[in-house]
Amino acid sequence: MANKVLIIYTGGTIGMTNRGNGYVPDQEFFQKELEVMPDLHSEGMPEWDLYQFANLLDSSDMTVEGWNQMGQVIYEHYDDYDGFVILHGTDTMAYSASALSFMLENLNKPVIFTGSQIPLCEIRSDGRDNLITAMLIAASKRVKEVAIYFGHELLRGNRAIKYSADGLIAFVSPNYPILAKAGIAIEYNEAYLAKGSEKKLNYRPFEKLPIAVIKVFPGIQFDIFETMMTSSLKGIVIETFGAGNIPAKGNELLPIIKKAFSSGTIVIVCSQCPQGSVSLGAYGASQKLKEAGAVSGIDITTEAAVAKLYYLFSKGLSRDDIKTLMGLNLRGEMKNSEGVL
Ligand code: ASP
Repeated sequence: MANKVLIIYTGGTIGMTNRGNGYVPDQEFFQKELEVMPDLHSEGMPEWDLYQFANLLDSSDMTVEGWNQMGQVIYEHYDDYDGFVILHGTDTMAYSASALSFMLENLNKPVIFTGSQIPLCEIRSDGRDNLITAMLIAASKRVKEVAIYFGHELLRGNRAIKYSADGLIAFVSPNYPILAKAGIAIEYNEAYLAKGSEKKLNYRPFEKLPIAVIKVFPGIQFDIFETMMTSSLKGIVIETFGAGNIPAKGNELLPIIKKAFSSGTIVIVCSQCPQGSVSLGAYGASQKLKEAGAVSGIDITTEAAVAKLYYLFSKGLSRDDIKTLMGLNLRGEMKNSEGVL
């Protein structure tokens, strides 16, 4: 029996048309475009069905509800398909891929995000190859995790970041090797693929939660953040300099972090450097963060740290458990504390 893939179109450039007011997603156009695309009906392609969001999004408008909708569609149709292709705008694709990697517990099938920088309606669209190759990967039964296929490369979803606003290789995975490269053949990097799970798939919808991201810069006036550090703030991701450093002199962050921590907020430290790890305590400038109760995000991306906070809080865990789990590798999103990828 031919393999079967469900294409989930959430919105994004790949299915946009421009009717005079800039590019916007177009449900009717997209359905027709797929129906008449010869490649999608040729021998060697899996069978496929299309599910479209009723309200197609530019991915800048993606929300927790959108993540839950994707997760629920996959959960409800999990046994009917060999794999899933999620067509999504590139702007927040790395956040959504990270979110789904946590939300779908015990995943054992491919969930491949893709999209394009140039819409399918344009002659030079990169969407055709991205879609066709993503479908072949989704049908292949080789991948058992959430990944992004874009510009000839398959990347772990919760390790990817959007790197280029206009290049056709829009994503990179600075801290984890690529999962596959599509040249003449699709070459899988077996050693780095997730092993999957034999347990039953579980879908954990996310709750809408107050989470913040603070990017540190020279001269930052931390006191303006003080008012937001109330007990209703669940988590803060701090993007620090280098290996986890923050300015120590002048307007100080530490009393504010201490206040946040004592009112129950989980504080995660990430680096502004896309490549490498946070090492809290390596410099005097980061030692104090550790003492104030912050957790090292090691080499996690900000996108994955945000998604992981949503996930752990939505599971209803205690603050201590969330703090511990934020520092541990759950879905291949960070290396473990012994430095193993
Ligand atoms: N703004 C678009 C989106 O993220 C860009 C894209 O699709 O590449 O939906």
